[in-house]
Amino acid sequence: MQVMTDRHEVIVVGGGQAGLAIGYFLSQQRRDFKILEAADAPAAAWRARWESLRLFTPVRYDSLPGRPFPGDPYSYPIRDEVVSYLTDYARDFELPVELNSRVRSLRRVDGHYILELEDRTYESDQVVVATGPFQVPRTPAFAERVDPAVVQIHSSDYRTPEAIPAGPVLVVGGGNTGYQIAAELAASHEVHLSIGSPQTPLPQRIFGRDLFWYLDATGLIRKTKASRIGRRMQENEDTLIGSGPRAVRRHGVELRGRTVDVAGSTARFSDGTTLDFGSVIWATGFGIDHAWIDVPVFDNGGQVVHQRGVTESPGLYFLGLPWQHTRGSALLGWVKDDAEFVAEQIQAFQVGPPPGPQGLTTTSISRSAV
Ligand SMILES: Cc1cc2nc3c(=O)[nH]c(=O)nc-3n(C[C@H](O)[C@H](O)[C@H](O)COP(=O)(O)OP(=O)(O)OC[C@H]3O[C@@H](n4cnc5c(N)ncnc54)[C@H](O)[C@@H]3O)c2cc1C
Repeated sequence: MQVMTDRHEVIVVGGGQAGLAIGYFLSQQRRDFKILEAADAPAAAWRARWESLRLFTPVRYDSLPGRPFPGDPYSYPIRDEVVSYLTDYARDFELPVELNSRVRSLRRVDGHYILELEDRTYESDQVVVATGPFQVPRTPAFAERVDPAVVQIHSSDYRTPEAIPAGPVLVVGGGNTGYQIAAELAASHEVHLSIGSPQTPLPQRIFGRDLFWYLDATGLIRKTKASRIGRRMQENEDTLIGSGPRAVRRHGVELRGRTVDVAGSTARFSDGTTLDFGSVIWATGFGIDHAWIDVPVFDNGGQVVHQRGVTESPGLYFLGLPWQHTRGSALLGWVKDDAEFVAEQIQAFQVGPPPGPQGLTTTSISRSAV
């Protein structure tokens, strides 16, 4: 069978907010490019999140380049509003998104990139990997010991409380996701929230203004990861926004310590107490999958080595990594800063071997930042 090869100047892998943001700048440059998206519909990552999800960033901080997020700037959009916004964005800017196009491998051959899909191959001079910071659901090893008759799901598979059977629910994970799911479920279920490392809860609003207003006005959201304050912020990256122990207790959620073991339908916590649960939801974060990238841009720990998304492999970039450059790098309203920077590198790129970027750094991408 002959495999078709399609050639473009730039290929963007991933059509989420990061892929669309760089697509906007590439289309402004009138560049020949494609955005390859694995899913069969735009905004796939947001579609796969729970139905009642409400953003922790208000509308005024949710815009991609060139188009304001619609609605009251001080309100907090729900999941479906983000889905509509991203879908309309891709359509109205006529971004060349190809759905059902999972890239299976990326290699560099004779100074060009070869991207293999199931049924076709692409070749390009430059590639932007924008496949998202939250890809592979992570669960602890002892999840394997949960009784197969008990419902256990990762938070990425949670949609509505109705889908969770009656009986005590154990939600494991004290990040924003665990708190939001526990609070929602508590209206209909007995809920226990297991918190491994308690995080600092920050109020969503302070003196009538949103938290992100302060982060923006003080410039903190744009502090680079190399700055002293940026390094400190990274250490506390799992900050809770708008939820916290007091708020979920008010919903009737019972707080438990770290889950240290599970057998059958019984969980044991760090304080020695146990719980017999009817179902368990692992809100234990995500890993990232770059195994399909066969280009030497990773350190021994598998982390991407880059300078603000620019790798040592000429013409290969990453976009949307947590702390790619700042706290805002993986957020809707700030990904445009890195996207614009990467687009400038693409414009300046000379086909042939330019000198690699200086002072490459790695991005830690193993922890969930939400
Ligand atoms: C529960 C939750 C709540 C969040 N709330 C907020 C919030 O309130 N405000 C905010 O600003 N941010 C929030 N975020 C963070 C961030 O905005 C989202 O994670 C966002 O989806 C990241 O966008 P992205 O484009 O980088 O990645 P994604 O949205 O994950 O998009 C990546 C795309 O790449 C595709 N893809 C992956 N691999 C391949 C491949 N090999 N070939 C082709 N396509 C591929 C995927 O199908 C996907 O569509 C939240 C995240 C989570 C998990």
